[in-house]
Amino acid sequence: LPTVNILGIPFSLYTTKETVSYWKLLIQSGGSEHIITANPEAVMMALTDERLYKIFQRAAQITPDGIGIVWASKYYGRSISERVTGADTTPLLLKEAEQEGWSVFILGASPESNQKALDNLKIQYPNLRLAGHHGYFGDQLPLILEQIRTFRPHILLVGLGMPKQELFIAEYQEQLQVPLMIGIGGCIDIWAG
Ligand code: UDP
Repeated sequence: LPTVNILGIPFSLYTTKETVSYWKLLIQSGGSEHIITANPEAVMMALTDERLYKIFQRAAQITPDGIGIVWASKYYGRSISERVTGADTTPLLLKEAEQEGWSVFILGASPESNQKALDNLKIQYPNLRLAGHHGYFGDQLPLILEQIRTFRPHILLVGLGMPKQELFIAEYQEQLQVPLMIGIGGCIDIWAG
């Protein structure tokens, strides 16, 4: 993966389209990978929180989710060509998932928002195997982990905000064994409309 190192964070040089192609390869390769879409605030968080910093170092890819990162890349030696956001990549990914028969679980946002997002996505991707759960689970967490394990998604999209979503993915990556896990911030609210 070609990267540019910005303050110790290896940002991917891939465009939105290249990123989705890379994700397809990751899903096909049979591992379990964590993707981070990072804006400047996320970089600051990672630089001030050792646990988060380590999670960033272990991620399969950190995408430049902010024009500030794109600008900064020039001063760190290699130019990023465009922002790569959850909002732009995931529609392409869901299209691929629908075609490939890959299942998707969306975790996060309010109960209403998660349900509305599921309803809207099912209209947009009628052949996609899709499930979800809201992101305010409290002591329901074991049940949700069980729900995800039973569903066996190829792709887990976690929208709990930064850094919660990254900590969640890192914590449960091993027991969930989902091929591709992506922190997507507020995307579920966007899909809910
Ligand atoms: N959220 C959640 N559970 C929480 C905290 C937040 O599901 O305990 C959701 C919230 O409803 C929203 C998303 O996480 O849908 C955070 O979106 P935001 O745009 O603030 O995240 P960012 O992109 O800034 O990381």
